Amino acid sequence: MKIQKFGGTSVGSPQRIKDVATLITSFPGKNIIVLSAMSGTTNSLLDITYSIKDGDLNQAKKLTDSLSKKYEEVIDDLYSTSVAADKALKLIEEVFEDIRNWINKKYSIRTEKEIVSKGEIISTHLMQFYLEEQGKKSVLIPALDFIFTDNNGEPAYTSIKNRLNEILPQYQDYNIIITQGFICRNPEGKVDNLLRGGSDFTASIIGAMVNAEEVDIWTDIDGMHNNDPRFVDDTSPVHNLHFEEAAELAYFGAKILHPTCILPAKLNNVPVRLLNTMKPEAEGTLINNELEHGSIKAVAAKDNITAIKIKSSRMLLAYGFLKKVFEVFEKFRTPIDMIATSEVGVSLTIDDSTHLEEIIHDLKELGTVTIDRDMVIICVVGDLEWQNKGFEARALDALRNIPVRMISYGGSNYNISFLIDKKNKTKALRLLSYHLF
Ligand code: ADP
Ligand code: ASP
Ligand code: MG
Repeated sequence: MKIQKFGGTSVGSPQRIKDVATLITSFPGKNIIVLSAMSGTTNSLLDITYSIKDGDLNQAKKLTDSLSKKYEEVIDDLYSTSVAADKALKLIEEVFEDIRNWINKKYSIRTEKEIVSKGEIISTHLMQFYLEEQGKKSVLIPALDFIFTDNNGEPAYTSIKNRLNEILPQYQDYNIIITQGFICRNPEGKVDNLLRGGSDFTASIIGAMVNAEEVDIWTDIDGMHNNDPRFVDDTSPVHNLHFEEAAELAYFGAKILHPTCILPAKLNNVPVRLLNTMKPEAEGTLINNELEHGSIKAVAAKDNITAIKIKSSRMLLAYGFLKKVFEVFEKFRTPIDMIATSEVGVSLTIDDSTHLEEIIHDLKELGTVTIDRDMVIICVVGDLEWQNKGFEARALDALRNIPVRMISYGGSNYNISFLIDKKNKTKALRLLSYHLF
C-alpha cells in the first residue's frame, strides 16, 4: 500500500482535479489518497474567521457567499452528469450552511477550527463524486474518524493505528481510498488541524501507521530543489535526501514539506517521495535513510526570526546560567532554534514571538538583554559531518560580504546555519547557490 498526497495546487481547478483522478486511477495496487483543500480555499476560510473575530459579520457573509459561488462554478466545470453535479451541489449547500451557522454564533477558537476544516472536506467529496461519475471504484473515509491528536497537539499514534485497523479492513476490495489531509480531532473530540501545510503530516502519519511501502507527496514542482525557487533562479531538484537532511530543510523553510512531516515516516522507515503532479514522469526527490557522503544538498531560509542576547558577568565560570535561561523559554512554551554561547553571554533565536515581552521581562533578571527582530536563518544542508573538510568554509566564504549575526554548526551532522538581516536574504540565498552548486 502507498500513500499519495496531493497538495492545494494539484487539485486547484476542475481540470487539475480531473488530471489527479486520471493519475490515481493509473496507480497500481492499493493507495490511500490524501487531499488538501483547493489552493486559496484555506486562506479564504481563514479570512472569514478573521472577519467574524473582528465582529464584521457582513464581511464574513460576503466572503462566504463568494467562496460558495466559486464552488458552484467548479461544479459546473467538473461534472458532465446532473447526478454527480446535484450530489456536489448538495454537499456545498450543507457545508456553507454550516459555515453560516458558525458566523451567527459567538466567536471562539471552535469557530476558526470548524470553518477552516471545510476546505479539505469539500475537495475530497468533489474528487469522490468525480470518480463515481467516471465509474471508478473508490471510497471516502473521513479523517475526523481516525486522525487524532493528544494533549500536546501531537498525533495520538496508538489511537490512530487502532482506528485504522478497524476501518481499513472494511474496504478491502477498494484500491482507491480517499481521505482529508490537515484536519483532525483533538483529545476533547473537537475538530482541529495539524497547522498550515499539515496535509503532508497526515500522509506521513498514515504511512507510518499502516507501514506503507512509500509516502508520495505530489505538488507543483519536481521535488525538493537545492534552493528556494521563489527567490533564486536556476535551482535544480535534489534526487536523494536523507530523512535528517529533509527534516532540516523543511524545518528551516523549504515550504515544499511540512516541518514535522518527516518524523513519523523516518521512525517507521517509510520512504517519502516528492513528485510533480504536472510532470508525473519527473524523477522527483526520494527521502530515505541513505546518506550520500561528501555533498552539500540544498539551502533554505526561515523568516520572522527574533534574536535574543543575554549578557551577564555572572555567566563567567558559572554553572547553571544556561539552565536558568532555558527555563524562561520552557515557561512560555517557546522553542529555541539557534544558539551560540560565549564566556559572557548567550545568543539564541525564536520564531514564535507571542510571549516575547514576558520572556524579555524574565531574562532581564539574568543579565542585559538585547533583541534583533526581522532576522532570517539561512540553513545549508548536506553531509556536514565535522571530519569533512572545507564545506563550512565554502558556505562562510559565499557569505563573505554579508553581515552575519550568528552561526550554528555542529548541532547536527547535516547543517550549518547563519542568522542574517531580512534585507540580505535573497542576496545570501543567491550567493550560496552560486558558490555551492
Ligand atoms: P502544496 O500546496 O502542494 O502542499 P506547497 O506550496 O506547500 O505545495 O509547496 C510547494 C512549493 O514550495 C513550491 O511551489 C515552491 O515554490 C516552494 N518551495 C520552497 N522551497 C522549495 C524547495 N527547496 N524546493 C522545492 N520547492 C520549494
Ligand atoms: N489546506 C491546508 C493549508 O492550506 C493544509 C495543506 O494544504 O497542507 O495549509
Ligand atoms: Mg504544502
